[in-house]
Amino acid sequence: MSNPPEVYLSKDLAGYGEVFRRLNPPAQLAIFGDPVVHSASPFMQNAALRKQHHDLQYIRLHVAPDELKSALGNLAAAGFLGINITIPHKQAAISLVDEVSREARLMGAINTVKIEEGKLCGFNTDGPGFATAFYEEFLTILRGKNILILGGAGGAGRALAIQCLVEGGIPIIANRNQTKGDLLKEMIDTEASDFGGILKSIDMDQETLADAVKSSDVIINATPLGMKADDPSPLPDGLLTADHLVYDTVYSGGTTKLLQQAQEVGAQSANGLSMLLHQGAKAFEIWFDEAAPLETMREALESSRN
Ligand code: NAP
Repeated sequence: MSNPPEVYLSKDLAGYGEVFRRLNPPAQLAIFGDPVVHSASPFMQNAALRKQHHDLQYIRLHVAPDELKSALGNLAAAGFLGINITIPHKQAAISLVDEVSREARLMGAINTVKIEEGKLCGFNTDGPGFATAFYEEFLTILRGKNILILGGAGGAGRALAIQCLVEGGIPIIANRNQTKGDLLKEMIDTEASDFGGILKSIDMDQETLADAVKSSDVIINATPLGMKADDPSPLPDGLLTADHLVYDTVYSGGTTKLLQQAQEVGAQSANGLSMLLHQGAKAFEIWFDEAAPLETMREALESSRN
């Protein structure tokens, strides 16, 4: 394989993507983001492509917000099969593709696009990736569980809340800005009543959180707290017990304060690396209609972090 630059630019997609067609193997998959240089997705996706003998590569593409529309518009002519989408484009991209799955529309964001006969089809694999990761980490399913999602009205939190409803779980979203949470609850009550579950929205003040933690089986952190080493936990001390299952979507390495709190009381806990792996595996399956080589992707992801 040739040695590509770390990050390509959206202008490289113009002119039928000559830049990408000339690579060996050609680039036909990418991750769009701003910034995108830190994305670990190329490691796991390129390992999967090699393992499955697909003669193409997956690259990082820096796309600024004002370039998103034209970059998406140039993908088909540049010969791309699909893309992943990361910060800050997941929400904006939903209105720029031709078709969107129902779950992704409810989640309000897409992280995967498949290009079929020139049409851009959008999906959200963060939610399903989380459900698979949860089962892998805790050997139990979300159905019937009371699930407190901290930062539940944010991008990832909303995807997880919808997924919990899809799986038959009982989600409570806790948001700093409760109005945002209440608006999400209202939308879900109207648009997703057929899932059967009810979404509850609460404030993040200490007393409300304490009551919610007490009545929850599962605690999920979907705030960015924990991405920086000196970040506090989103939960006050003394609330977790050994019976909680604690999932922190943060995967930036190290043990977050929330995971430390869980470990101190003997609660089972996991970080967001498994969600990252499974959302990537589900994207691969959407692009190729074949099972993703999960262990190959897991090894590539883990070694990219050493
Ligand atoms: P986002 O859309 O900005 O949402 C962040 C949420 O956290 C919002 O609800 C926000 O509340 C809340 N929040 C932010 N700072 C807070 C603080 N200091 N205290 C309390 N709440 C706070 O971000 P996102 O894209 O969803 O990402 C959230 C987290 O999910 C990140 O840690 C990211 O790494 C993780 N993630 C992981 C994966 C994975 O594969 N493992 C995938 C996607 C995202 P307000 O609405 O009140 O501002």
